[in-house]
Amino acid sequence: KEYIANAQRYETMTYKRTGKSGVLLPAISLGLWHNFGFVDNIQNGREVLKCAFDLGITHYDLANNYGPPYGSAEENFGTILKKDFKNYRDELFIASKAGYDMWPGPYGNLGSRKYLISSLDQSLKRMGLDYVDIFYHHRPDPDTPLEETMGALADIVRQGKALYVGISNYQPKETQEAAKILKRLNVPFILHQARYSMFDRWVEDGLLNTLDENGAGCIAFSPLAQGMLTDKYLKGIPKDSRAAKDLTYLDVDTVTNNLDKIQRLNTLAIERGQKLSQMAIAWILRQPQVASVLVGASSANQLKENVKALDNLSFSEDELKLIDKIVS
Ligand code: NDP
Repeated sequence: KEYIANAQRYETMTYKRTGKSGVLLPAISLGLWHNFGFVDNIQNGREVLKCAFDLGITHYDLANNYGPPYGSAEENFGTILKKDFKNYRDELFIASKAGYDMWPGPYGNLGSRKYLISSLDQSLKRMGLDYVDIFYHHRPDPDTPLEETMGALADIVRQGKALYVGISNYQPKETQEAAKILKRLNVPFILHQARYSMFDRWVEDGLLNTLDENGAGCIAFSPLAQGMLTDKYLKGIPKDSRAAKDLTYLDVDTVTNNLDKIQRLNTLAIERGQKLSQMAIAWILRQPQVASVLVGASSANQLKENVKALDNLSFSEDELKLIDKIVS
């Protein structure tokens, strides 16, 4: 059956400008790091994507190695695009990245021009796209000159394979240097993708200001600390949760060690009339430099719950102080 998107999809979502660019992103975007590989149920992935678009979520974040296996999230995404979204390409803002381990040998990792350009060509093939809306260097590479990496991003834009470029996981100083080079090359650097949640506040220590100074925005990944900042672990570790699964980056010990904080934050969220997940997202959106909060979701219902964060984005001074105290 043909998918027809919800006609009201743009009425409820909030769109935010990324830095000083022309790009508006949904305040909540969807990441495909987990739940979209060949190991996952593609029908579920399809439901999550349709649900996202129906909610006004226009931005989907991928990378060459999302899966598992590597590449499979992009391939599944391509299959779903072809089936359900072929009439909507111009309404979608699609990201991919390269920078981590992807294929064997010296050219399948890090930050060389050789790696970035061939990796994006592979990504485009897997997704069945002519171009991505944004292409990121996924992490800094201390051994490749930044001029080479940024030069590759610039050429990718000039070749029409990406409309904008971004960087991810760069420290403030590296970000400043990258922005300077991209400016010289006349390439639109609009986004830095960084881990940011109540459990990891490193971006507050210089990065957000650096982005401001360079007219770029921040998109926050793992805003729920991979699911810890929700009510899912309050009564133990559910069997189908990320923490319970092998081959993920969240382990049971990390959850257990944070449980006391999670419980106290959950109490505050309830007092605010919100779910903890919603409070965690709203808390990130209080930063003006954050253009979008990039969530993951293993079900359409999680996404529906998370988007309701937008119903209450304000915090009192006392609430903010209490959060600082709980997480410090
Ligand atoms: P989150 O912190 O949002 O964690 C998402 C996970 O939390 C879900 O998969 C689900 O896990 C659980 N969850 C989400 N909503 C709820 C809810 N309402 N109730 C209960 N549980 C919920 O983000 P991710 O860590 O998934 O990262 C998001 C995206 O950021 C990635 O997909 C990727 O695109 C990007 N990213 C980028 C990185 C980079 O280096 N640039 C690194 C990491 C991520 P469960 O399976 O347990 O249900």
